[in-house]
Amino acid sequence: MNIAHHQDLAETTGFPLRVSAAMAARLDMPGVAAQFLPDGRELVVSDLALVDPIGDEVHSPVKGLTHRYPDRVILRATLTCAVHCRFCFRREVVGDAGPLAEADLAAALDYVAARPAIREVILTGGDPLMLSERRIIGLLERIAAIPHVDLIRLHSRIPVVSPERITPALVKAMDLRPAVWMVLHVNHADEIGVEAEGALARLVKGGVPVLSQSVLLRGANDAPEILEALFRKLLMLRVKPYYLHHADLVRGGEHFRTTIAEGQAIMAALRGKISGTALPQYVIDLPGGHGKVPLGPDYLAAGPKGHRIRDPQGVWHDYADPDRGLLRAVKSG
Ligand SMILES: *Cc1c(COP(=O)(O)O)cnc(C)c1O
Ligand code: SF4
Repeated sequence: MNIAHHQDLAETTGFPLRVSAAMAARLDMPGVAAQFLPDGRELVVSDLALVDPIGDEVHSPVKGLTHRYPDRVILRATLTCAVHCRFCFRREVVGDAGPLAEADLAAALDYVAARPAIREVILTGGDPLMLSERRIIGLLERIAAIPHVDLIRLHSRIPVVSPERITPALVKAMDLRPAVWMVLHVNHADEIGVEAEGALARLVKGGVPVLSQSVLLRGANDAPEILEALFRKLLMLRVKPYYLHHADLVRGGEHFRTTIAEGQAIMAALRGKISGTALPQYVIDLPGGHGKVPLGPDYLAAGPKGHRIRDPQGVWHDYADPDRGLLRAVKSG
């Protein structure tokens, strides 16, 4: 595929075109192309779009670290990625800045070490697996040395977009005392080639549980059949779908955003049709740093017996909570 004119358009948007070798080989697939090739609509400026869509900076006590929830922090170990996803909520900051400077990294790790309430360190970016193997292993070891950290989570696109980086040595280094979990970012089954399948198999066989997160993207995966194919494929690769994110308010990304009703309808179409193990939670990251919230769809409403609950076919059923008064009247034992 000739991508020269795409390159020019990408430069105009200020977010350069970048695809890994594995994705370049799959750009003829519409579900892949829509994620990585720039689109003239990126130049449309919406009043709704934000530079920091999910409020990373609102709860950032030290550079590169966001502490929004009591028990976990995210650490942006590098701002470099193997691919540039046009819908990225960090597209304003992702680029070639490279790894967090050692002084900032040390300050971030000191912050974690000084707070026993932090049980989990989530490595994100950019893409943390863009760091050199030596740096990744060193970072895992430094986090593992903090006694109260039980979990390390890696949020990455690498197993799919640059599967060759998932080396046996890297997988071996993930076999640590704080359990290492991976959350794979993948949006379409067409992204997953045989090399990616191999990388995921290495991780799973190496003892790393793998979850997935996807972004609901208008024009790329906003149909129940497309997501069904993705989630089924992930389960076969022993990857559990975790989150389906509503697209963020990204500058230049409005054309990717579905309505919430559209997202709920897709989830409702999947519920009851495909394995419950295949279903992620549909969530929105509230602008302003207020956190992630499940978006339903809603199956519960008020009714004459207390509740009415909608089944997957759309039929409503009455449902009552326990009658505590009645239970109290009969003494136990
Ligand atoms: C998304 C996010 C997390 C992780 O949330 P989970 O619901 O545990 O996956 C943690 N911290 C921040 C700041 C986040 O944006
Ligand atoms: S890999 Fe992640 S951080 Fe990097 S551009 Fe894509 S969505 Fe953004």
